[in-house]
Amino acid sequence: MHHRYRTPKAFGAGLAAVLSLGLAGPVALAAPAAQAAEPDPVPALVAGQETATPQLVTGLDEPAPGGPADAARAHLAAHPERYGIDPGQLTEVGAERDADGRSTVRFQQYHGGVPVLGAQYLVHLTGDGAGQRVESVGGKYFTGLTAPTTATVPAAVLRDLALGEIKDPQARSGAAVEDHGPVVLPGGTGRLAQHFTVRATAAGGGQQAHEVYVDATLGTVALSYEARASAAAAGSPAAGAPVAAAAVEPATGTAPDLSGRRVTVNIGRLPDGSYQLSDLTRPAAITTYDAAGRAAGELGGTIPADLAPAHSASPDFPAAAGTSGATDAHVNAGIVYDFYRNRLGREGLDGKAGPIVSVTNASEWGEPLANAYWDGAKMVYGNGNAKYLPFAVALDVAGHEMTHGVVEHTAGLVLAGQAGAMDEALADYFGNAIEVTARGMSMSDPKAALLGESLCRTGTPEACAQRRLDDHRTTVDDYLGVGGAVDSGGVHLNSTIFGGALWDIRRTLDPLVADRVIYRALADYLTPLDDFVAGRNAVLAAGRDLKLDRAQLRSVAAAFDAHGIRAGWQNRIGVDSRALLRDVSGPAIPAVANGRWVMAKAAPNAGSPLYTGSLTGGGTPVRLSPEDNRAHSWPATDGTSAVWLALGTDAQGKWSMDVLTRALAGGPVTTLFSSPSSMPGDVQVSGGDIAFRAFDPASNRSRAYLSRNGGPAVPVPAAADHDVSGVTLKDGVLGWSEHWTGDQGEVDAPTVYSIALGKVTAQYPTAAPKAWTNSTQLAGGRLLWVETSGDGTKRRSVRSGALDGSGVTELVSGDSPNAPSNGTLTASDRAVTYQVGSDEADGGWKNATLPKLWQVPLVGGTPERLSCNRGGQYLPAAERGTRVVWVDATAGRSDLVVRDRPAGTC
Ligand SMILES: [Zn+2]
Repeated sequence: MHHRYRTPKAFGAGLAAVLSLGLAGPVALAAPAAQAAEPDPVPALVAGQETATPQLVTGLDEPAPGGPADAARAHLAAHPERYGIDPGQLTEVGAERDADGRSTVRFQQYHGGVPVLGAQYLVHLTGDGAGQRVESVGGKYFTGLTAPTTATVPAAVLRDLALGEIKDPQARSGAAVEDHGPVVLPGGTGRLAQHFTVRATAAGGGQQAHEVYVDATLGTVALSYEARASAAAAGSPAAGAPVAAAAVEPATGTAPDLSGRRVTVNIGRLPDGSYQLSDLTRPAAITTYDAAGRAAGELGGTIPADLAPAHSASPDFPAAAGTSGATDAHVNAGIVYDFYRNRLGREGLDGKAGPIVSVTNASEWGEPLANAYWDGAKMVYGNGNAKYLPFAVALDVAGHEMTHGVVEHTAGLVLAGQAGAMDEALADYFGNAIEVTARGMSMSDPKAALLGESLCRTGTPEACAQRRLDDHRTTVDDYLGVGGAVDSGGVHLNSTIFGGALWDIRRTLDPLVADRVIYRALADYLTPLDDFVAGRNAVLAAGRDLKLDRAQLRSVAAAFDAHGIRAGWQNRIGVDSRALLRDVSGPAIPAVANGRWVMAKAAPNAGSPLYTGSLTGGGTPVRLSPEDNRAHSWPATDGTSAVWLALGTDAQGKWSMDVLTRALAGGPVTTLFSSPSSMPGDVQVSGGDIAFRAFDPASNRSRAYLSRNGGPAVPVPAAADHDVSGVTLKDGVLGWSEHWTGDQGEVDAPTVYSIALGKVTAQYPTAAPKAWTNSTQLAGGRLLWVETSGDGTKRRSVRSGALDGSGVTELVSGDSPNAPSNGTLTASDRAVTYQVGSDEADGGWKNATLPKLWQVPLVGGTPERLSCNRGGQYLPAAERGTRVVWVDATAGRSDLVVRDRPAGTC
């Protein structure tokens, strides 16, 4: 469940932290290896991506005598040509043996003593002793790593960079930072990073937790995504419990469930003769707490010392055990445990019978909490609201959250992008499988595929269920192309594509067989950075291990086919743009001119650098900003030099906000403006001229500043009592939006200023009262802007004005169905490009309503779609003619892409 239930506000705040997801994406989300039409449903060999080591080798039958770990290592060492693995870089991190006598040994790859993120390689053996044989081998091992293994950025700086992921300064000051040590991020030659978990509480009480990987040689955030909520070490969630487990004796009692029906429960008898909800009948103790409305935000880490398990003076628990959901959670935890134990041979969430802890009846700082989550150590269930019952009641929700715990202790899927969507899909699958099994439901029962349907107070189960595994979504038709800043790259939004395929397998095969195959894929094949296609291959390989016949394996393959999960699916989506840079760091701000691009992060942290590269894709991107710990962003370029803002502390340790410039070819960095208190903006460069907006102390107003041919930047005069914003510069002409309070109220006026003449040559006050303008641009000898109506309807039009004051033309009417949705505007000498649509449209998430770019000729005409790419299209930058660069999230990741001309009608 988790994020899906958050209030929109909390949802947005949590997602803002995923800006830098993309840089590790080449590994997680790169195009899958080509796979030819394959008569055998289980591929014999799947090549690895960015490595010489295969992702999967099946159909082996090679002797491997000895203990499983030693035999597995010896097997890999004996075939260097097949695997390309240096066994000295492998450390055994787990071994499982199933009831059929099959062993899986899981190795972690190290690079020079540093673990490689997501690099796990697994060897599957059958039989034992002298007769033991290798059946299959697979996972991720990266052969191209040459990254350094020693950090060059000081440890304190790395820590501060991680803290920077908490954007709110107040929350940041109280944040906790856990340092997990160095890790190598795979992809190409690899990158050395330091891994932190940062946790903070926002002023409004919202919890934030991020896994942050900071590049230890560049000093930039390389990967960041939302973390589990708990700070407790797994397995020790109840350290605050007041009674030692050993002092509790097993007993039986009764307790009311939510409906008031009294059920028999396994409980614990305390030394004083009273009782608590502790079920001691299994190898793992199951304990259930009633948070009694305490905020979920206070339940991170170990359980507070003053919070005891649900308690009763007699073995017959009082009404509160029912209304809080504690009885249901307690019973459900036992059912989930038994499912994993009896059906799949797994002893608890960690596989080692570690304690199972549930906390029910948690609130959102006193407000209703319609959500539930696994926090890395325990389950936390919200108290519900007018629409939903307390979340502890639903068995499929308990199964979902507890399966997150199983995933964390097995495949360890990263909680972002396709890997994160598979984590959600597996949690949905087992959540539903457990409910269907325990309740004796038929797989053809319409409610079997619904998640959380029993929580509905109002409405039909179909209408109020959180997700459904029979929604028939496919990658090619339905993959929602959201950027990394939305739902960690769509982990909930895209989960049913994979979960639906798993559910179809359960409907086709015998359910018990399906559960065993999918559990084996999870426990014995999947690795942390796997994508959907790797997930498919894992399930097929697990199916063959479990002796599915050819017809059964074909039906498994057909289920994945039916959901579009097959090699190369991203290509079949049909992207009509050319990628310049794959997996740019989430939303980034590109600037382009004359065949060159400059790019920075949209929400810069300390240590955000600026890069430049070629639009033709030749050469490697090079760093433009100086090697310091400042945030470099909001760039502009004319193709020869770049100008941008740098925020941070200078060499003397003083905070300042600077405007910097440098030639794209390299050379010295020049500081044009510096202020300790007011932030400049709207940086522009054209030929030898540089302009920006900044506060002018002399006039006590915001002004355009101008630097000519490397000279000092000086304020450009404007009328007293007027403010200037939206500064733009092109070929000796300045433009801005001028703002003042006139007789009729507030006035906005797009304004043209000739540098040669030293005076304003045109000014176009908005006609409608209270209308405002933004995104001022100079292009093709015109001034352009977006004008927003002041009548409350917020209709937006695109307008242009002549430089000589001779009049205004409306390019796109505010009444047009293709009118701009926001102030995004970029223009070349021939065309204007703007944005229609938004991430959070009414009526749910749909590719069709995600932001799209539209283009209209500068001389006027019919707006056309710039690109028919179906996913989100963000941050356009016009280069020349009709060519535009933007960040596109269509193909399951955020790429910097380009098109030379509009696509027309889509
Ligand atoms: Zn979940």
